[in-house]
Amino acid sequence: MLPYGRPCLDESDAAAAAAAVRSEWLSAGPTVRRFETALADFVGGGVGCVSVSSGTAALHAAYAAAGLRPGDEVLTTPMTFVATAATAALHGARVVFADVEDDTGNLDPVAVRAAVTTRTRVVTAVDYAGHPAEYEQLRKVAADAGALLVDDAAHSIGSTYRGAPVGTLADLTTFSFFPTKNLTTGEGGAVVGTDQELVDRVRRFASHGMVRDPARLRYPDEGGWHQEVHSLGLNYRLSDVLCGLGLNQLTRLPRFTADRGRLAARYHELLADVPGLRLPARRPWTDPAWHLYPVRVLDGRRREVYERMRAAGIGVQVNYLPVYRHPVFEDLGYRRGQCPTAETFYAEQLSLPIYPQLAEADQDRVVATLRTILR
Ligand SMILES: *Cc1c(COP(=O)(O)O)cnc(C)c1O
Repeated sequence: MLPYGRPCLDESDAAAAAAAVRSEWLSAGPTVRRFETALADFVGGGVGCVSVSSGTAALHAAYAAAGLRPGDEVLTTPMTFVATAATAALHGARVVFADVEDDTGNLDPVAVRAAVTTRTRVVTAVDYAGHPAEYEQLRKVAADAGALLVDDAAHSIGSTYRGAPVGTLADLTTFSFFPTKNLTTGEGGAVVGTDQELVDRVRRFASHGMVRDPARLRYPDEGGWHQEVHSLGLNYRLSDVLCGLGLNQLTRLPRFTADRGRLAARYHELLADVPGLRLPARRPWTDPAWHLYPVRVLDGRRREVYERMRAAGIGVQVNYLPVYRHPVFEDLGYRRGQCPTAETFYAEQLSLPIYPQLAEADQDRVVATLRTILR
């Protein structure tokens, strides 16, 4: 089965992980710091970067840094992986879903403005498929609401918006390094931010809430061994072994992004005249690192096309079931149909295989199979 996404690994990646193993510094060591510095540089020199154990951990820690409390509201898109909302709900926040834009599937700033209340504490956008959301407008809406803006950039490391890299567009940006994502550490993630205090809070939450800085200790005279917990946290640290892999992947990322761009452009050209198909939009002021290639199958044929493509050995995928339709949210009272544009988007959506090493001959087979089905 041709997968819809796949990590791009080579001997240099294996050697980088092995070097960290040989150094015997497996966690909280120099490779972690090097990875965090390199990542901060890559995404545009935000003041800080914290590596964490997954994209989910990154979101959970970002919400902790935002100071989410029960009763607070997090406004977000339903067109995302469940973790964007689940991590907010785990802090006791109420998740409010605003509808998406029809062309990009990204959070609609107009819908966000309409859904803001006095309890809105965080607005979380997702750069669906790698296409950045409308940060110019989202920043304004979030600021007017007195809310923090979070970018769940699990799809979009390497993308730019109006010339600025993803990582500089929101107060906090979270990344995932899961194997299918644009850059992988197996499991892993990161948070970058432009505000030092916020980034410090992320780091504390990701490491038990532990305070070591003598200037901040409540009991500085306790002894040299002493460290204190001032707020609850978890262990979300990423190991040196995985940071070694991440460092090497980061040097390869520009090539990955270029390959994804070439394949997306090729799909765009080869599929342009296929009937019953709508191709992903790209707004001219964005340069997406295409994590997914999400087409829309019209005329109620998405399920048929999904099944026939899979039967032909082509591992297409659907991204995503609107989050509020997961039974856990349904049981909390969220109703089907509350975001009609997202519902239509979901009903038609199909992700075609795209990853840097996808051979053009395989891509041609994807196109030919789709063409035969939709003819
Ligand atoms: C993958 C993903 C996550 C979660 O990342 P993990 O590393 O798998 O925990 C969160 N949000 C979006 C949009 C994702 O695609």
